[in-house]
Amino acid sequence: MTHMKSKIIVNFALIFLIFSSVLTMSSTLAYEDEPYTPQLEEINTISRVVVFSIDAFRYDYWSRTGDAASFEWLKEQGVTAAYNVPSNPSVTAVNHVSIITGNHPDKHGIMGNTFYDWETGKAYSLFSDPTDPYRDTNTGLHLITTKPSVIHAEEQGIKTAVFAWPYVDFGTEYEGMSPTYLFDYDWFGANNLRTDKGIANKAANTILDDPEIGLVYAWLPGVDSIGHSAGPESASVKQVIDFSVDVALRTFFEKLDSAGLLEETLVIIESDHGMAAVTDSDYFLETKPFFINAVANTGLDPYIAHDAAFELLYFIGETNTTKVEEFAGYLKGQDGVQAVFVNDEHNSINLDNPARGVNISVWLEPGRSRNFGSTYLGMHGYLNNNTDMRGIFLAVGPGITPGSTIGGIDMIDIAPTALDMLGIISGFETDGSVLSSIYGSRTEAFSYPDMYAPTISKITLNPTEPREGLANVIEVKVNEYGTIVSAEAEISIDNGTVRTINLVDIGSNNTFFGTMGDFVEGQVVSVIVTVEDSIGFQAIGDTVTFTVGALVKKTSYSLISLIALVFVVPYVYRRKRNN
Ligand SMILES: [Zn+2]
Repeated sequence: MTHMKSKIIVNFALIFLIFSSVLTMSSTLAYEDEPYTPQLEEINTISRVVVFSIDAFRYDYWSRTGDAASFEWLKEQGVTAAYNVPSNPSVTAVNHVSIITGNHPDKHGIMGNTFYDWETGKAYSLFSDPTDPYRDTNTGLHLITTKPSVIHAEEQGIKTAVFAWPYVDFGTEYEGMSPTYLFDYDWFGANNLRTDKGIANKAANTILDDPEIGLVYAWLPGVDSIGHSAGPESASVKQVIDFSVDVALRTFFEKLDSAGLLEETLVIIESDHGMAAVTDSDYFLETKPFFINAVANTGLDPYIAHDAAFELLYFIGETNTTKVEEFAGYLKGQDGVQAVFVNDEHNSINLDNPARGVNISVWLEPGRSRNFGSTYLGMHGYLNNNTDMRGIFLAVGPGITPGSTIGGIDMIDIAPTALDMLGIISGFETDGSVLSSIYGSRTEAFSYPDMYAPTISKITLNPTEPREGLANVIEVKVNEYGTIVSAEAEISIDNGTVRTINLVDIGSNNTFFGTMGDFVEGQVVSVIVTVEDSIGFQAIGDTVTFTVGALVKKTSYSLISLIALVFVVPYVYRRKRNN
């Protein structure tokens, strides 16, 4: 396994060097043949960096993570940035490429979820559109125009793994290279790389299978979908954080921790952009009178790479920049438009890539949105000077001071920081900065707390000494932060018989019960209870053993039956006959 020293190790190394040289001076003779060399890499190292991108987790969503175990732990144990500013436009494709390359679109070339390329004459997009004559959905690494951090790491001999990362997945290469492990987002649900939990679980299993993986990027898409459909202020956002993202992260942390790999892993939790509430989701730029005027009065007919919160306009075949500027003049300052940029002006928003240059970009005011067939209550893609577009950044792991905070960061700082943590920043071209302020010290052990896994706190039998002739009930009390999805008891009788029964949630305080059934007096019975939570983690209770007690007297039942026969039946019979 590769062990790369973190910054903090360098500091430790210095202290140790001074300390050990003093030691050497005083004991030179004793250690002459075998000098003392501390195994620093085994004390506190980072062997891998894992970046999870929680799509559209707005910078202030931390206030909604109260019931989520992993977030509680992350905030306690990690360093949290005040916010994370996205590249323009603040959309998924652009910013996932900004995160993985450490550059804005002026360098990485992914100008929108949909954008036009002047050299190929195609409009590349994550989404298909049969009405768009330029549309090409063959997206991926091959379209990125600056070296992604995963390729840089591979060149340095570090294995990388990428899970459903927008614009990097779908089996493409950057200059003939690709990550060692590249898993595509599962649009059709066939391989379970579609949900937060499915992707995080796959990431954990892949690392467990190959612990030499040093750099990982994984996408968690759930929060974005609900933010669009229900709006950023809806209670549904919190539900997705609690029941989707939290489960995904717990799955990952608990799996790595049980394999002993978490303490050497730096985990970065970030988001690609925020989300703004939408009040007008029917804003179609090309139908607005001022736009129609621009077309009529300039005679220009732009190709529009449509998006919801902004529009990229290309004047294909038009070389008259004055006319293009005149066109832009009709759009500036209009109702619903926050800003308009023309040609070279795009360098002020890091959107002036030479091969993918945009003629005019039109940015809607937050709250306005185009409608792609469904009504949106939340949207992103607005200019990044709108605070609602800000995402999050948190890092947890060795070398990170628990519970610390830093100021705002930029999306492009993540890749250089990850590479620096791995000790392979040299030669990487980036406009971002290494977030050296996150480096600190950690004195206690780094592990995911067991309290978040299920435990069985109490097993009660009723009656406490099971007897022949009774149903014999078992009641199990479980401690669980999340959700128990199955509970069962395996009942082994000394005559070789084994019965497995499901325990049912009686709906209070995580208590489950079941009927063990009848036994024969004198049998020795042992019971093992197993529960499993929604993550797949199990708790197995202590074995309960008992000897079956004497037969419950059946005479009382016989007596009741006799009374029923003698009195009740003739009474009913008489009543029926009288009717
Ligand atoms: Zn996104």
